[in-house]
Amino acid sequence: MICDNLERIRATVHETALRCGRNPNSINIVAVSKHVSATKIAAASQYGQVIFGESYLQEATGKITQIDDALQCHFIGHLQSNKAAVAAELFHVIQTVDRLKIAVALDSNAARLNKQLDVLIQVNVGRERQKYGVMPENAEELLREMQSLACLRVRGLMTMPPYGREPEESRPWFRALKQLALHLADEGLFYDNNAVELSMGLSGDYIVAIEEGATLIRIGTAIFGERTQ
Ligand SMILES: *Cc1c(COP(=O)(O)O)cnc(C)c1O
Repeated sequence: MICDNLERIRATVHETALRCGRNPNSINIVAVSKHVSATKIAAASQYGQVIFGESYLQEATGKITQIDDALQCHFIGHLQSNKAAVAAELFHVIQTVDRLKIAVALDSNAARLNKQLDVLIQVNVGRERQKYGVMPENAEELLREMQSLACLRVRGLMTMPPYGREPEESRPWFRALKQLALHLADEGLFYDNNAVELSMGLSGDYIVAIEEGATLIRIGTAIFGERTQ
């Protein structure tokens, strides 16, 4: 089942990219494996899936140690600064930096581990009270404050837009994230301003996200099936 799902999603990503004049290789699938067993992760990995996304630190800690070194794990959940040490060690990319305190904590831990840590800035594009993420109007200031953090490489932006029943409802939010990224790249605030990552789009709306410029799509249910928890 995982194999068929991956095949189908890869084909859709490919077609969508070509249809909007994008290079299919510029889009990477993050297989969201929260509440998914290490066995299923291994199965996806056998079918060539490389990047996995985890939302809960404790759950991820147990699983990542059981999986292959060749896999890349992205943290996509909310991160507390007292957990920065573990996160900096375990993950290839932290997608959810949304305040200076967590950025500073990750940077000092990356320095301790002698590594450069790739991060994305999570933006609360819909300005929703219950959601994490920096408010769009504060993203520039956060990035400016982060310029002095020598061990973090800010690769781009990530968002979880307001829930919509139709994929089309996500389009304006994806567009807003892209616009913000273009502005911040103009200001030279990313590690590589010519290759800015946009992490947006889930199982239900990843086609729209690709149309709007996503480079990382975070797909759980459509790969692994409904989560039981
Ligand atoms: C769970 C989750 C996803 C995946 O959602 P699906 O609808 O299962 O594809 C993507 N991003 C984040 C941040 C998540 O927590």
